[in-house]
Amino acid sequence: MTTTFTVLDPATAEPVTDVHLATLEEADAAIERAAAAFPTWRDLAPADRARLLRRFARVVDEHVDELAALEVRNSGHTLGNARWEAGNVRDCLDYYSAAPERLFGRQIPVPGGLDVTFREPVGVVGVIVPWNFPMPIAAWGFAPALAAGCTVVLKPAELTPLTAVRLGELALEAGIPPGVLTVLPGRGSVVGERFVTHPAVRKVVFTGSTAVGKRVMAGCADQVKRVTLELGGKSANIVFADADLERAAAAAPGAVFDNAGQDCCARSRILVERSVHDRFLELLEPAVRAVRVAHPGQDPDAEMGPLISARQREVVQGYVDGADVAFTGSAPDLPGFWVPPTVALVSDARDRVWREEVFGPVVAVMPFDDEADAIAKANDTEYGLSGSIYTRDVGRALRVARGVQAGNLSVNSHSSVRYWTPFGGYKQSGLGRELGPEAPNAFTEEKNVFISSE
Ligand code: NAD
Repeated sequence: MTTTFTVLDPATAEPVTDVHLATLEEADAAIERAAAAFPTWRDLAPADRARLLRRFARVVDEHVDELAALEVRNSGHTLGNARWEAGNVRDCLDYYSAAPERLFGRQIPVPGGLDVTFREPVGVVGVIVPWNFPMPIAAWGFAPALAAGCTVVLKPAELTPLTAVRLGELALEAGIPPGVLTVLPGRGSVVGERFVTHPAVRKVVFTGSTAVGKRVMAGCADQVKRVTLELGGKSANIVFADADLERAAAAAPGAVFDNAGQDCCARSRILVERSVHDRFLELLEPAVRAVRVAHPGQDPDAEMGPLISARQREVVQGYVDGADVAFTGSAPDLPGFWVPPTVALVSDARDRVWREEVFGPVVAVMPFDDEADAIAKANDTEYGLSGSIYTRDVGRALRVARGVQAGNLSVNSHSSVRYWTPFGGYKQSGLGRELGPEAPNAFTEEKNVFISSE
């Protein structure tokens, strides 16, 4: 098996650089260094751990442009997105730098003494990252884990290791001690699996496909290892007849074509109330055609770039080929991995393009009859990550938001991920929650101690 991986620029398919893939022995050595670094990191005074995280945030902030440029090259992200993503790493570190001094236990009334709880870090945490948002997803794992006093080994996706490697270097530059955050590019089947099987790794945070997530969970069961899973999605954007249709149609492309649709929260199913279905499509068409699809390295105003790889383009094209395509946007004539924004009409809920996560710039549109039908259709999926509801009726917004089985919903908006609010999936979209004020607790065990006063 080769031990290097050639990273390609997805906009042009040209090689960028070769990256060494860690072997099993190197993975073991990194895990053992993380285990050795754990007691010192755990026992650091909370204010000192906080100070180091703030310093890490500052160093990331000083490198936002460099990190963004690297992501544009490695992942084909638009410059605007890549800058946001690097800034999100900084913000996560800043936010969780407030956690070490606030890792509260509780005092619980009991007779005959004092009962207190402690939040103790689990130990070494393995973070496994997919290729679609290499920087934010890494930080959503490592920032709260480090704040809780855990040490971290992190494996980026094979296709997108460059920003993660750089973040590992910046951590050292900021004074985070060696062994506390180790970035290990490598194969899922080698390094990722080793995080699952190595007994010194006490928790795995996995973001990726549902199929691999199930395998990770099954592997973790063997050691009753803690696991958080952030998996796939097939989220619904529900548009009622009473909604501001212009606003809903203008926002819909961004909700699914952002990051070329390679977004677990993509609203890739649009449900439109039957009476406004045709009108909505009339409004959607110019909005889709207006999406600026361009080489992100050459056009700083590009709104959508290429897919990550030739394989991903093949997968996505497979869905387009079998679909009833209503209209598409554009894509540049470049040798990279391009697919234009595509809108498909669906009348049968068994259609692949309606049921399966495409993970590309393809959205499927279907009519619904009333509120109950909208909720039933939105929930007719094994996934439950996010979704949107467009209506002017507040009561309906609330009823539908409570009725849709998904972890992250937005009303008259497509926003879903903020580092200070919880994020995660229902059903097969995941297990556990990331982000928000509670995230550091997910990297701790709660210990209860009773002290007799007698
Ligand atoms: P993937 O499951 O193929 O890979 C994800 C990561 O797991 C990679 O780092 C990979 O190397 C590693 N991996 C592969 N096999 C492994 C194994 N046997 N053991 C341990 N690790 C292994 O997913 P992908 O194709 O990189 O990413 C796309 C998927 O990720 C989509 O399904 C998407 O919905 C999902 N995703 C979910 C979220 C979320 O927050 N819910 C966010 C981003 C992406």
